[in-house]
Amino acid sequence: MPGYDLHAHSTHSDGLLAPAAVVARAAARGVEVLALTDHDEVSGLVEARAAAAEAGITLVAGSELSVSWDRLTIHIIALGIDSENAMLAQGLAAIRTGRTLRARRIADALAEAGIRGAYEGAMQYVTSERLISRTHFARYLVDAGHVGEVRDVFKRFLVPGKPGYVAHQWATLGQAVGWIRAAGGQAVLAHPGRYKVTRSGMRRLLSEFRDAGGDAVEVLSPSHTPAQVAEYAGLARVFGLRGSCGSDYHGPGESRLDLGDLPALPSGVVPVWKDW
Ligand code: AMP
Ligand code: MN
Ligand code: MN
Ligand code: MN
Repeated sequence: MPGYDLHAHSTHSDGLLAPAAVVARAAARGVEVLALTDHDEVSGLVEARAAAAEAGITLVAGSELSVSWDRLTIHIIALGIDSENAMLAQGLAAIRTGRTLRARRIADALAEAGIRGAYEGAMQYVTSERLISRTHFARYLVDAGHVGEVRDVFKRFLVPGKPGYVAHQWATLGQAVGWIRAAGGQAVLAHPGRYKVTRSGMRRLLSEFRDAGGDAVEVLSPSHTPAQVAEYAGLARVFGLRGSCGSDYHGPGESRLDLGDLPALPSGVVPVWKDW
């Protein structure tokens, strides 16, 4: 199945490339079906759709929704949504408002750790006035000389137990899946291997996700080891969920995988695109 990449970010959230540049890069790298999945945002899809028509590839309208589940933050990818749907749009707008409030609290927490001016600093890296993420704080902390590179920020700052971390209430699992389905899309549990849960916790998450109307699990992800790919392929089968794949591309120099750098889904996994 060459050519499916169903997880990528642009400047409309925390990616480094504009939507048209993401699409052009994907096309040049042999991607045939690309989903643009900006965090809690769909505003990049207009530009991406036009660029995809130009490049002769298929653009899947997507987003990556931030969700609080059992004291964890998890991500739910929406695929094939009507990006104009009012219910989804209102839900995403509410999450983005929460992001702005959280950003102020992150800056306050960093100030307590002796790093002042982080809100204004992070804002210099924000590329869409509608959305601020920890990635923007991370880029600021690197360029201000506090940390060597972005991935190391998430070891020393902004994560539980470290300076600059603040707990935050995102959407509920039921809300996120409900909005995605209201917009005619499919819901995919993103990079499950990243969530710090026990085996039984993961099973509970998968069963609640499926019961809420979830469709698929992101089996192939740069966050997964080969063992985790096999594990989530097996769990997808057990829970009657389909499988998805995505590079989670954020831009040159910041991502483990480039657009389209994905192997085939393991055999036995029903692809999320089976009925497209
Ligand atoms: P937020 O949704 O604002 O909490 O920010 C989460 C974003 O931070 C993710 O989408 C990634 O882009 C980035 N991120 C989180 N953990 C890491 C990590 N270990 N290395 C690099 N980027 C990370
Ligand atoms: Mn991101
Ligand atoms: Mn994610
Ligand atoms: Mn992502």
